[in-house]
Amino acid sequence: PIYHESDATIEPLEGRTVAVVGYGNQGRAQARNMRDSGVDVVVGNRGDDDRDQAADDGFEVYSIAEATARGDVVLLLIPDEVQPEVYEREVGPNLDAGDTLVFASGYNVTYDRIDLADDVDVVLVAPRMIGAVVRELYEDGRGAPALFAVDQDASGAAHERALAVAHAIGATRSGVVETEFDTETRTDLLSEQGLFPVFASALLARFEVESEAGIPPAVTLLESYLSREMAHIFEKCATQGLVSQMDLHSQTSQYGQLLGLEAFDREPIREFMRDRLEAIDSGEFADEWTEEQASGYERLSELRREYESSEFVETEQATLDAFGLRDL
Ligand code: NDP
Repeated sequence: PIYHESDATIEPLEGRTVAVVGYGNQGRAQARNMRDSGVDVVVGNRGDDDRDQAADDGFEVYSIAEATARGDVVLLLIPDEVQPEVYEREVGPNLDAGDTLVFASGYNVTYDRIDLADDVDVVLVAPRMIGAVVRELYEDGRGAPALFAVDQDASGAAHERALAVAHAIGATRSGVVETEFDTETRTDLLSEQGLFPVFASALLARFEVESEAGIPPAVTLLESYLSREMAHIFEKCATQGLVSQMDLHSQTSQYGQLLGLEAFDREPIREFMRDRLEAIDSGEFADEWTEEQASGYERLSELRREYESSEFVETEQATLDAFGLRDL
């Protein structure tokens, strides 16, 4: 089901304290949205910078352990990689029976990376948007769509409490889709591991082909995405639709786009996506990522270095400077 504004209220949160653990991208946005919706919010944070920011924004700020102890509903808004360790040390021991633990990502529940107590609710409220925009949309009277799921219902009220959180952050103003933790994990990881590499590969392949054909690299890159025309086309795809937005282009362009689409063989892309999804579903990717973290992110740094020193990226960076495009 999809829930909208009229399907939820903040009532299940009345008389309860919501603890936002982590005052980063999502934490700052969600804490402020919930407070503006009338919820009693406290913040838990480790380091000084985000702690000062939360205090400047007018919140009571505590250690993660203390905020969790004060909260009846606890939003775990720290990076997925650190959640198991922080949960074990500071969050888990301070949760009371009947509290509600809210994740914004399915990862650690799907891969069983956290040993969750049986007597707490475990729910997911995952905005499909970066934190800054979760806040901006809320301030405009709108909201970011979100996924929502219940993994454990110890209190008997997990569903309505999770929906109340979604309502308080503004998500029901758009729409909240009920799903499962695993579905959120699969689709989120496949965006990163399947879709983004395909987009980036298309950009790299075009760069290689146009270089061979004697087209200046800066011209290729401006045309591909640096001029932002492509970003605007994607915006229009999101608001009007993939095909309807073609009305904004000439008929020559429309005919060329559709002929190209007809000629393109999508099977290799499907194969690639199936392989990636298999590694996501089997846990192979998650195990590799756990090992990578334990080894100090060696391969991640190596891959970053390799791409950062590629001709493509060097040309891209020089073009950004040459055309003053960085702060557009
Ligand atoms: P951030 O990277 O912005 O989190 C930063 C916060 O985490 C800071 O408050 C930081 O505290 C704290 N933190 C980092 N490391 C530790 C640690 N070892 N111990 C204690 N606190 C730590 O996270 P996001 O907001 O990006 O992500 C939060 C959750 O939301 C994740 O589950 C993510 O998957 C999910 N999500 C994120 C989206 C996004 O747009 N980024 C979109 C949808 C979901 P300090 O100040 O001490 O460094």
